[in-house]
Amino acid sequence: MRIHHLDCGPLYPFGTRPINGTGGFLRRGRGVIHCLLVDTGAGLVLVDTGWGIDDYERPSFVVRAFMAVLGTPRHPGIAARNQIERLGYDPETVGDIVMTHLHLDHAGGLPDFPHAKIHALQAEIDAAAHPASIIERWAYRSEHFAHEPHWIGHPVDGDEWFGIACPPPFEIGGVTFRLIPMVGHTRGHAMVAIRLDGDRWMLHCGDGYGYHGTIYDPPKLPPGGKIVKALFGMVQTVRAIYVSSDKLKTFKDKVGDQVEMICSHDIVDFERMRV
Ligand SMILES: [Zn+2]
Repeated sequence: MRIHHLDCGPLYPFGTRPINGTGGFLRRGRGVIHCLLVDTGAGLVLVDTGWGIDDYERPSFVVRAFMAVLGTPRHPGIAARNQIERLGYDPETVGDIVMTHLHLDHAGGLPDFPHAKIHALQAEIDAAAHPASIIERWAYRSEHFAHEPHWIGHPVDGDEWFGIACPPPFEIGGVTFRLIPMVGHTRGHAMVAIRLDGDRWMLHCGDGYGYHGTIYDPPKLPPGGKIVKALFGMVQTVRAIYVSSDKLKTFKDKVGDQVEMICSHDIVDFERMRV
């Protein structure tokens, strides 16, 4: 098995200093959309997709606006499908995609893999199919699901991983995957665990945390982070990230080196794993 770390949506927004410590008042910060390409030896598995080719070439109004705010360059070469080709793989061999959640910046590439099976918590598939709030209607984009993906919904059913209730594990190409619920940012947000060897795991925490500093010792927010937390913490999806960061700090203390934790948007996590 080999895991490639792909940035499927470089982020250069203003104002990220109090969020992840990068950039300045007049200087753009830096973030990523951290996706994994798992070469199982018997096919490819993606964890999240980032933006898709159509998002770069023919974005809807909402996607165009979101990309502009985040400063993502409109370059189709960044899409997962095109990166996979440049790595020398046939994108058609991506048979499965395991999703942390279905927000637009994570699921935009689904139409580029119309034949893949899409794994997510059942609650997340239901949320995207029946958005029930303004934020859900805005953040789940119908154009990303118009091709009627082959959903594999995983109910949280009777299993446990390091004390967290979760669905049973599933195998793809001989590699063990798990969806670990970390609900809050979305109704069915999950972390994706991949067994490396023996009892060691990689855990893609999605938007379970946003800044590596909050889960390392000593946990810290960047300068000004407390103000952002107070202001934007009134929004449920944002507040949930701070809540789950605290939970994941405790989790990290418990599991130590047995679980390698990364998240979707932190540049430090991404650079650490890429080398
Ligand atoms: Zn995100």
